[in-house]
Amino acid sequence: MRARIVVLPGDGIGPEVTAEAVKVLCAVATVRGHVLSFEEAPFGAAALSAGLPPLPDATLEACRRADAVLLGAVGGPEWDGLPPDRRPEAGLLALRRELRLYANLRPIRAFGGVAAASPLRPETLEGTDFLIVRELTGGLYFGEPRGRTTTDGQRAAVDTLVYCEEEIRRVARVAFEAARLRRGRVTSVDKANVLHSSQLWREVVSEVAKDYPEVTLDHMLVDSAAMQMVLRPTAFDVLVTENMFGDILSDLGAGLVGSLGLLPSASLGATGPSLYEPVHGTAPDIAGRGLANPTGAILSAALLLRHALRLPEEAALVEAAAERALAGGSRTADLAGGGSSLSTAAFGDRVVALLA
Ligand code: NAD
Repeated sequence: MRARIVVLPGDGIGPEVTAEAVKVLCAVATVRGHVLSFEEAPFGAAALSAGLPPLPDATLEACRRADAVLLGAVGGPEWDGLPPDRRPEAGLLALRRELRLYANLRPIRAFGGVAAASPLRPETLEGTDFLIVRELTGGLYFGEPRGRTTTDGQRAAVDTLVYCEEEIRRVARVAFEAARLRRGRVTSVDKANVLHSSQLWREVVSEVAKDYPEVTLDHMLVDSAAMQMVLRPTAFDVLVTENMFGDILSDLGAGLVGSLGLLPSASLGATGPSLYEPVHGTAPDIAGRGLANPTGAILSAALLLRHALRLPEEAALVEAAAERALAGGSRTADLAGGGSSLSTAAFGDRVVALLA
């Protein structure tokens, strides 16, 4: 098969980890006889520094024409003080909105060989394997009105948490479809004891559940879900939730398995290209030093193969190679606990070597 992939390396460690993901994609394409072409485009702070908006028009057009988009991460301390709409992250929100990527899939899995990096006891962590489905284009990050005002010298700020039923229904369907192919359980997470939007969320998810009699649905409040993720992470199969709760819980999930650097994500819409990115940020503290763990980016490339290019066998090959690298003792600094470690590129080479 032939496919065109737009790569948005972004900022900080973004270029380092996407380079390894591209390396692995090229290797798997060679092994399996596919032709993948890659086009890099400016995005985030990299675009702002060149005098462009965080999502330049040409970048968006290139993404629209692509079969899939592979992203590193955006942002950095020098931009942190700016208003939200002038920060690199504004580009990311705009890209998700423009490509209508409403469902963010974040698999959280305990990897063999790296249990020591987790703060959980090994017996609590063992067997952890769940999928967070996060709503991505609604809720607090997009709702209107939003912004700041000053009245009589008093500063105030507002964000709006709004969901309409179709936004909830379509992401719930993604969760139930995923559960069908997994262990058949959906946990819907909300704050229905306090929020009107959560009461609607609970109602609509329960309606969607009627179309999936083979899937068990339960509802959990977000505070309780956070606690259960730490106490009994193996109890979850598919967890579906709104945008901000999903943002927070997925980082908690990353913490459970030991490093933000391990976890991938896929952002899907109804039509058009989908977006693949590791869950971590730009890690300015380690950027440019070859210390970043590229596993999340490499596993994002595997999700790209599975969801965008419909190449499940190739995806499984990449996942197995990354897991074998970790299980075999290959470590980047974040997982090495002060012991000897591989550079970002050397870890990527190791995964490529294990692909065969
Ligand atoms: P971060 O994920 O960048 O880093 C948190 C910690 O995890 C740091 O100590 C970092 O060194 C470590 N870490 C992250 N990824 C790693 C990897 N692959 N290998 C090894 N260690 C890794 O989060 P932060 O520090 O809160 O944010 C830094 C910047 O990234 C901010 O500007 C933030 O806005 C941005 N950000 C971007 C995204 C995105 O592009 N999707 C997501 C989160 C944060």
